[in-house]
Formats: sequence, structure tokens, C-alpha cells
Amino acid sequence: MTTKSNLITQKISFFSTQSYDKVFFEKYNADFGFELEFFEVQLNSRTINLMQDTAIVCVFVNDVVDAEVIEKLAENGVKIIALRCAGFNNVDLIAANKAGIRVCRVPSYSPEAVAEHAMAMILTLNRKTHKAYNRVREQNFSLNGLLGFDLHGKTVGVIGTGNIGKAFAKIVLGFGCKVLAFDINKDQEMEKLGVQYEPIETIFKSADIISLHCPLNDSTKHMINQSSLLQMKDNIMLINTSRGALINTTDIIEALKNGKVGYLGIDVYEQEEKLFFKDLSEDIIQDDDIQRLTSFPNMLLTAHQAFFTNEALTQIALTTFRNVSDLIIKKDIDNKVALLN
Ligand code: NAD
Repeated sequence: MTTKSNLITQKISFFSTQSYDKVFFEKYNADFGFELEFFEVQLNSRTINLMQDTAIVCVFVNDVVDAEVIEKLAENGVKIIALRCAGFNNVDLIAANKAGIRVCRVPSYSPEAVAEHAMAMILTLNRKTHKAYNRVREQNFSLNGLLGFDLHGKTVGVIGTGNIGKAFAKIVLGFGCKVLAFDINKDQEMEKLGVQYEPIETIFKSADIISLHCPLNDSTKHMINQSSLLQMKDNIMLINTSRGALINTTDIIEALKNGKVGYLGIDVYEQEEKLFFKDLSEDIIQDDDIQRLTSFPNMLLTAHQAFFTNEALTQIALTTFRNVSDLIIKKDIDNKVALLN
């Protein structure tokens, strides 16, 4: 019979599982030998009871890991919450610490995957290749409405120069852009490459394109709002591949309506939990904001796919298994979520 102690070393319960998660985690489990249990549903207070005899839970960006859920996880004997993503804004770390649950994440799986997606959004919005693709298939070879601008020589503001922001800055430097950056910590490698650190207000005022790469926390929530938008150049291009709530949705809709924002590329959305990673094509969407956003011709929305490359999914699986293995043998690991536990 299986005892509680060897269950602790063996079983991982995954929430918000997609078919590709199963493929990558099953493939790389060969070297680790965990028992894997996959649930398609999101983890929240209603779904938590699906798992039994599990000490390790593996969650993604939109799972709800608040104080209520953490208390129930602890009652069920959970000892480790393994995030298979970089951001950890959805986990109440204070509650996890109080419950004696350790939290780990995958801080850097492929910064290039996200940075390259941000660049793809810029190129699509600017050169309108999505429209050209459809147009020529209908034998419309006109160029009207497809006018773009040279990226070379433009000023790009990068907010947050961690792993992803740095990879992104290198890409836009390669396009011949001037790069201004804002981060609470300056990065010397960036400065050597010619990136200029400036106060955030200078970036708002001077940039032609702004790309957000900082985490979501109390100080960054709604950093793009009516007041910061007013400081920006007219026709600004804004790119957000970080977290939806960095942008105040009501204010960005208004700025798109009045033309302040000329281009908006978002891979993340403030109310994405109810929408993303699901096929809702037969449903009546109740979220009016997303419907309004997708009605703008100068808005490009992707559904949190910036991370989605073969290389990134490989690293996510390998790092998650390594994190969990190390935590089981009580090894201190770099990838624990640093705040408390
Ligand atoms: P990181 O921790 O390497 O870098 C974050 C940077 O932001 C750090 O340099 C930090 O100093 C800076 N920062 C913190 N607070 C700031 C503030 N108030 N103003 C400006 N800068 C601030 O993280 P990363 O790997 O570069 O990821 C960045 C974010 O991208 C993550 O927090 C996550 O939310 C998001 N992300 C999205 C996807 C996706 O698929 N769309 C995938 C991975 C990560």
C-alpha cells in the first residue's frame, strides 16, 4: 500500500492543463519518474477537491491561488506549489508562507520567446501583414490602408529590463532604434549596448513605441492609465506581453477611441482568466471590454501565447521537475519565489 510519505515524493497534480502541457510534461518526466495527474479545469476554491493524496500542485498564470485556496491546499497536505510560469502575482505568498507551503516558479524559460512575440506584434501592427495576407487571397492587390513606418531611427521605451526586457531591447537595437529604458534596477550590460535609462515620465514623453516587461504588483498595476497616456506622444504604439492589469482597460479603450493610442498590441488582458486558453467560439461573450477592444482595427490581441515555443515548453517542463525534485530533498533552490519562502 502507498504511504503518505512516498506519495509526497511521487505525485504532481496539474491544473489548467492543455494538451501541449501533457505532451511536454509526459515527455520530460522520463528522467524524473513522478506520477502525473492532469486536470483541465482551473484551480480555485471549487475545484480544489478534485485532487487527493497530493503534496505537489502545479499551476499556471490564471489559476487562483489566493489565501482561501492555500488554506484548503494546506488542509489537503499540499507542501509545494510549482508555478509553471515566471509571474507569480496570482499566488498569495504571505498565506503560503503561513501555511508552510513552498512556492517555486520558472523564472526564465525562454525570454527570447516573449521578446520575439513582442517584436512580431510591432511588425504586424506597423506593416499590417495580417491584413495583407487576407487581402491578396481575395485578389485585392491594392496598398491603400497598409502604410507603415520605418522602425529604424524610432525611439522605443522598454519598461522593465529583466530577462525579457533585455532580450527585447537587443532585438529593437538590431532594428536601429534608439532604446530608452526604465527599471528600478539599471542593467550595466544594457547600458554598454547603448540603452539609456531614463525616468518613466521621460519615456512616456519621448517614445514612439512603449513595450511593457515589468511584473504586475501593487506599484505597477494600471501604470498605463489616463494620466500616463496623456503624457505620451499622439499615435503611440503600446505593446503589453507582461500582465494585463499593467494597463487600465477603460482608459486604453478611451485612448483608442480618441486616437491617442495609434496601435495597441496585447498578449495579456486584465480580465483574461475567464477567456484565455479556451475555445469560446460558440459562446456569447459577456465581457464587453474585450468585445470593444477587438473591434478596433489598430488593435492586435493574442491570447497569452508569447511564451508558446517548443524551446520554452521544454524548459518549463524540465525546470518545473527540477524545482520540485530539489524541494522534495529540501535543497535550497534559486527558483523558489523569493519574497518569503
Ligand atoms: P524579470 O524578473 O527577469 O524582469 C522584470 C524586471 O522588471 C526586473 O528587471 C525588475 O527590476 C523590473 N521591475 C520591477 N518592478 C518594476 C517597476 N515598478 N518598474 C519598472 N521595472 C520594474 O522577469 P521577466 O522574465 O523579464 O518577465 C517579465 C514579465 O513578463 C513577468 O513578470 C510576467 O508577468 C511576464 N511574462 C509574460 C509571458 C507571456 O507569455 N506573455 C511569459 C513570461 C513572462
